[in-house]
Amino acid sequence: MEPTSIREGTTEKMSLTTKVVIGMVLGLIFGILLNVIDSPFINEHLVDGLFAMIGKMFINALKMLVVPLVVFSLICGVAGIGDIRLLGRVGGLAFALYITTTAIAITLAIALATIIGPGSGFDMSGISVSGLAAKQAPSVWDVFAAIIPTNPIAAFADGKMLQIIFYVIIIGIAALMLGDRSNDFVKACEYMNELMMKVVEIVMMFAPYGVFCLIAKTFAEQGIELFLPVIAYVATLVSALFLHLFVTLMVMLRLLAGLDPFTFMTKIRPAQIFAFSTASSNATIPITFRCVTQRIGADNSVASFTVPFGATINMDGTAIMQGVATVFLANVYGVELGIVGYLTVIGLAVLASIGTAGVPGVGLVMLTMVLSQVGLPIEGIAIILGVDRLMDMIRTVVNITGDAVVSTIVAKREGKLDMDVFNDPEAGVITSDEFEIDTEAEARLASAAHPHNDP
Ligand code: ASP
Repeated sequence: MEPTSIREGTTEKMSLTTKVVIGMVLGLIFGILLNVIDSPFINEHLVDGLFAMIGKMFINALKMLVVPLVVFSLICGVAGIGDIRLLGRVGGLAFALYITTTAIAITLAIALATIIGPGSGFDMSGISVSGLAAKQAPSVWDVFAAIIPTNPIAAFADGKMLQIIFYVIIIGIAALMLGDRSNDFVKACEYMNELMMKVVEIVMMFAPYGVFCLIAKTFAEQGIELFLPVIAYVATLVSALFLHLFVTLMVMLRLLAGLDPFTFMTKIRPAQIFAFSTASSNATIPITFRCVTQRIGADNSVASFTVPFGATINMDGTAIMQGVATVFLANVYGVELGIVGYLTVIGLAVLASIGTAGVPGVGLVMLTMVLSQVGLPIEGIAIILGVDRLMDMIRTVVNITGDAVVSTIVAKREGKLDMDVFNDPEAGVITSDEFEIDTEAEARLASAAHPHNDP
């Protein structure tokens, strides 16, 4: 039998994205129901037991893909780009766009929060103050110095993305410089890259169940009552996040790449669902990468670099949360921030976005740094803590969409976007047909294992 192609069979079989969406919606309904029932037995054995276990397994499976996928795709990307100057151009453009989108995001958040003014007249009674400690603001110099790993193995083991990217790019450049002598090495990496993309697809087959458990657990734990005291904060934050997602980013995509935002949004949806369910840009890298290359059509030589780079340094949603939270808490405590305060928040949020990894809840930790810099009590975080998980899920969607938008713009401008793929609604859609085993390969393996059986 011929190996199945990615586009086959989509008409009869339900696509994986549809299944994942169903998993998400069922998880939401089920989670809210469990929250209403609130049975200690169910909470212990189902929510904190089975759901927590499957959810954790799914996130672990995604995380196990990140480092090898980034390493092999990046080596292929650098070797495939063929020209070191082009790599510099791609890197420079991506960096400039990432910083610009984050700066726009935080400015928009502060402007919107100042207009809406959430937090004025807030009643502080009943808010428990926890013993939070402020995180120190990293210096720009330290952030850049830390990009070079002293021990690459440790960087791989700890998943330090900027260090890994730096090291792998150097290896890729060295392979380029070796010319023909590195052919075998590059071929081996290409093979490993292809293999890792298959592993991504295998893990994605379990996504509907993983997503169901993650969402059901979150909503079973998060009661609607949590939102009521901070409804103005939530409303302002969600408006700012949506404004950035649907207006700023989509206008940029249209103006800088001339692409249709609707098509783009449909194609990036699987990555958005994963980002929402896991609240981690890092864990979503394999899916963002797959969507950007196989559904949107960006070339591996660009996306292998811009996607993991973006997941690490670009956090528009997180910056928006920090802007809205700072204005909200300034209102709660009756503190006048002033123009210097606002500028400090903008600068720090951009820096924090570069210096922190895309993992759940990190935005809140970085908020302690912003608050202490502008003289607001960090205990204020206790007020918004209850709703942060859900806000984290939404802002992570914005974070990874920003990564995908910038990757697409860079690819388009460098002539590395395949418009046929972009315009094909079926491109890169996974169906269960994908998982039929390539029997020719099986036969090859069998004859290699038992050579005497050969005819
Ligand atoms: N969870 C976010 C991410 O991974 C970071 C944050 O805002 O906490 O992108």
